Amino acid sequence: MSIVPDPKFDFWHGVDRMEIEWSPTIDEGKCKGSGICVTSCGRGVFRYDYKRRKVKVVYPYNCMVGCQTCSSLCPEGAISFPGGREKVQQIVAQRDILSRVKEELEVRREALDFKE
Ligand code: SF4
Repeated sequence: MSIVPDPKFDFWHGVDRMEIEWSPTIDEGKCKGSGICVTSCGRGVFRYDYKRRKVKVVYPYNCMVGCQTCSSLCPEGAISFPGGREKVQQIVAQRDILSRVKEELEVRREALDFKE
């Protein structure tokens, strides 16, 4: 299985997604195959091994940087994100993501503006 990401997710705030290490790690020993991560992830990161009732990470670079939804949902606590929040904050600082976000807010002002 390829690890090539969906081209839709090639960049994260302008940074090449392949340069950012952020994806779920599954503890095979803990995974009991509920599949809630597979059916909940909106980015198609996982596939399900129906024979063994286990989950596989097949498209790690599709994962949304900072998201940990699958980890929160897993009833067995089998999914982790090494580094967690601290790692994400480090990436945000190192890559000057907040400056990019500031620009994005202006570019997308019409769409994002809260109108009472
Ligand atoms: S963290 Fe979010 S985007 Fe990444 S694999 Fe889990 S549910 Fe999908």
